[in-house]
Amino acid sequence: MFFQKDIETISRDKLEELQNERLRNLINRCYENVPFYKDRFDRLGIKPEMIKITKDLRNIPLTTKEDIRENYPFKMFAVPMKKVVRVHASSGTTGKPTVVGYTRGDLDMWSDCVARLAVAAGATDEDVAQISFGYGLFTGALGLHGGLEKIGATIIPMSSGNSEKQLMIMEDFGTTLLVSTPSYAVYLSEMCREKGIRDKMKLRLGLFGSEGCTDEMRNLIEKNFGIFATDNYGMSELIGPGVSGECKLRCGQHIAEDHFFAEIINPETGENVPDGEYGELVVTTLTKEAFPILRYRTRDITRLIKEPCACGRTHARIEKIRGRSDDMLIIKGVNVFPSQIESVIIGMDYVGPHYLLVVRREGFMDTLEVQLELIDAALLERFSELEALQKKVKEKLRSVLGLDAKVSLVQPMTIERFQGKAKRVVDLRNQK
Ligand SMILES: [Zn+2]
Repeated sequence: MFFQKDIETISRDKLEELQNERLRNLINRCYENVPFYKDRFDRLGIKPEMIKITKDLRNIPLTTKEDIRENYPFKMFAVPMKKVVRVHASSGTTGKPTVVGYTRGDLDMWSDCVARLAVAAGATDEDVAQISFGYGLFTGALGLHGGLEKIGATIIPMSSGNSEKQLMIMEDFGTTLLVSTPSYAVYLSEMCREKGIRDKMKLRLGLFGSEGCTDEMRNLIEKNFGIFATDNYGMSELIGPGVSGECKLRCGQHIAEDHFFAEIINPETGENVPDGEYGELVVTTLTKEAFPILRYRTRDITRLIKEPCACGRTHARIEKIRGRSDDMLIIKGVNVFPSQIESVIIGMDYVGPHYLLVVRREGFMDTLEVQLELIDAALLERFSELEALQKKVKEKLRSVLGLDAKVSLVQPMTIERFQGKAKRVVDLRNQK
């Protein structure tokens, strides 16, 4: 049940010692080999020897996706190109992608981290693993591929799409383990259920990642496919998948803390929050050679759980990602994410999936208005039904958000549609 038991169950003291030692080496490598970090340190009067332990990291600035973009494509690499054996990239919604590189050592570390989360979920060398992430510059497919190969599973590098064929291969090749995004797994599992072919399959395990997975989604996949599934997390800027993953107990994802140092900050102030509180995840790669990164702002909101896990792993866990800090609103001191509103309205009768949040300041009070589109305009004429619906949404919002919102039901097709990333929030608080 462990891939690297010694390191996965190391004592916290020893782990911290190891992190500090690796950090000192990392700071020197960044200062000597990456002009971006050298310039930044020099400008702020930071000497590498001033960063001795992980707590000292608080004294250096955060690194952002924009920093990586400005150093496109290879300027943040810390080794000569002849040492780089692979590049990956993540597509931005606009402009140039963010490019990352790997040495042979990095690939080895990466596959170790993925192997750990696969074994933690129950994968073995007897598994036949169908990888249904898209192969390419994206880190998902090759990341899981490397880790599962390392534990000796049989890999089917299926890539994404062509769902009929996915199910055919799953049946014919005796696939036992599926790697995909949760949303694609939902789709495949529904198709499998409709075709009534589940009994011909050997599928038993799912490793899902690259997007958030709600409990409802996971339950649905597990029920349709009759499998057990875990979530994992990562991003190409840090390495790809493998930064953290759930064990069988599924009570948070264990971070590979010997390679990744995690902090939680207040996204507004940049200050570290007290242990156990929610905020934005910031990660420093302790061992990466080609593309080390100091204090990377993931923009993902979560909290750290440092209490020991019953599985025996001592590495801290992150809770399920709550949302993106770019999207986070603070209303009357309460953190609100558009994704929470989404969870309330999805599956409700009479209202469509489009919504708009309007935040205002009235006197000294913040107010939240949630505008929802009706599917059928005729409801606007039926006042008692309209009122009942409004009340129902309001109550659901109160239980999910912990605050009162004004609910406005508007005509169909009146909320603006977006191509690409939707703009769901209008914050009028700082306007006169
Ligand atoms: Zn555990």
